Amino acid sequence: MKQLIAGNWKMNGSLVANQALLTDLAQGLSAAPRAEVAVCIPAAYWAQYRALSAHLDGLRHIALGAQDVSAHAGGAYTGELAATMLRDFGCRYAIVGHSERRQYHRESDEVVAQKASQSLACGITPIVCVGESLAQREAGQTFEVVKRQLAAVIHAIGPCASEIVVAYEPVWAIGTGKTATAEQAQEVHAVLRAQLKAATEQASRVRILYGGSMNAANAAGLLAQPDVDGGLIGGASLKAPDFLSIVGAVCR
Ligand code: PEP
Repeated sequence: MKQLIAGNWKMNGSLVANQALLTDLAQGLSAAPRAEVAVCIPAAYWAQYRALSAHLDGLRHIALGAQDVSAHAGGAYTGELAATMLRDFGCRYAIVGHSERRQYHRESDEVVAQKASQSLACGITPIVCVGESLAQREAGQTFEVVKRQLAAVIHAIGPCASEIVVAYEPVWAIGTGKTATAEQAQEVHAVLRAQLKAATEQASRVRILYGGSMNAANAAGLLAQPDVDGGLIGGASLKAPDFLSIVGAVCR
């Protein structure tokens, strides 16, 4: 199973900036990389990605991803995007339950689980984010929190548990420059793997990504851990050389 390096551009970018970034990424990945690579770009620019794909050969090595998806199939939900719409634009992945959505949009574990279900129903792989806050880590609640978050998704999707990607993103490490050590990441990933094993016989197929200030300097150490199957990259995904170095740091 290839490691997966997914960029989360968040609410960054412009037509001009994206053209430059995607061109640089396509050039850097003109030969097939060892890793599977995806960029979760703002929905407003999916059409730009598609248009550029016709000209930039290297983009065929970079899958398109969404940063969120509606928990509903369609209807009167102003501002939301249904999984069918993601599929229309060729999104292969959808991030669900990012801590910024949980925090600023009050998304519950159940809503995140519905989003994962909607994605799977449309053939889109949800990247299910879980992670503890600093206060929760200090209170010794890390395992309990991430297991509760993942359990809600497993409960909703049942036998499809082997079809998801999980991203362990400690909230205290996101955008802060503080990275979990490779040992801290591995410890939590092993707990998540055990939980997946109890849910599906194919738990070894599930990629568990680490996210939280991963960068060109610390990627190799994190990606070398046995249960770290890739990275979800925020800030460093906006700079082509940094993102490409992370892609180059994969070890399997
Ligand atoms: C993220 O938001 O998913 C993330 C990992 O951000 P950063 O890499 O900037 O910490």
